[in-house]
Amino acid sequence: MAEINNEGSIRARCPGCHGALSSFEWRTQLGQFGVITVSHKHRNWGEINLDYRLFRCAGCGRGGLGVVAYPGQFPGAYRDLYSFFPEVHDRLKLPKTVPEGIGKEFREGETCLDSGAIRAAAGMFRSVLDKTLRANGYKEKNGTTLEQQIDAAAKDGVITEARKRRAHDEIRVLGNDVLHDKWQPIPVEDVEASRHYAQRILEDFYDDRDSVLKLLRSAGRVPDEDKLE
Ligand SMILES: [Zn+2]
Repeated sequence: MAEINNEGSIRARCPGCHGALSSFEWRTQLGQFGVITVSHKHRNWGEINLDYRLFRCAGCGRGGLGVVAYPGQFPGAYRDLYSFFPEVHDRLKLPKTVPEGIGKEFREGETCLDSGAIRAAAGMFRSVLDKTLRANGYKEKNGTTLEQQIDAAAKDGVITEARKRRAHDEIRVLGNDVLHDKWQPIPVEDVEASRHYAQRILEDFYDDRDSVLKLLRSAGRVPDEDKLE
């Protein structure tokens, strides 16, 4: 996520610098690049300024647009960066054998996370877990819960006990809160953890697919590979 420092520079991953972390500056010795300032009511600080401000990457020179709230003169005594464009977000690596639909679900979770749709992201990562277990033959019948499927995968030895706990605590329970409980904000860190463990579970199932298939078959599971179209 892009961050703004006390001097008003923005640190973000720059698409022109192959995704490297770069500093975007808002002025040279000749002056600032350009800005539109409007008055704005901040949720904590009341009536302050809001800038739509041009920045320039110190590495490759490409332009960027930041939306920043602050009091007085930019960059102000304190400030709040609402958004910054363009920014490259990191993408976790997934095994090549992950089924296309599951991979896309995972990427959509990351896109939700990037755009601040935190609850939606939690729902997506829970769905990744759900679809992965289903694709590996753990949804035995309609009533088999996600909880039972996770436990069964650990019992078969496809995931470790430690991973089983993470799958419950970091992915399933968080996703269930979103899907079934009253609306409330959830911390972005919790969803970052959910993303991390969803990736690890995809690695458990798909990094060494041949060994996992053997394990699944010997446990009597019917993974998607063995199902007739
Ligand atoms: Zn750059």
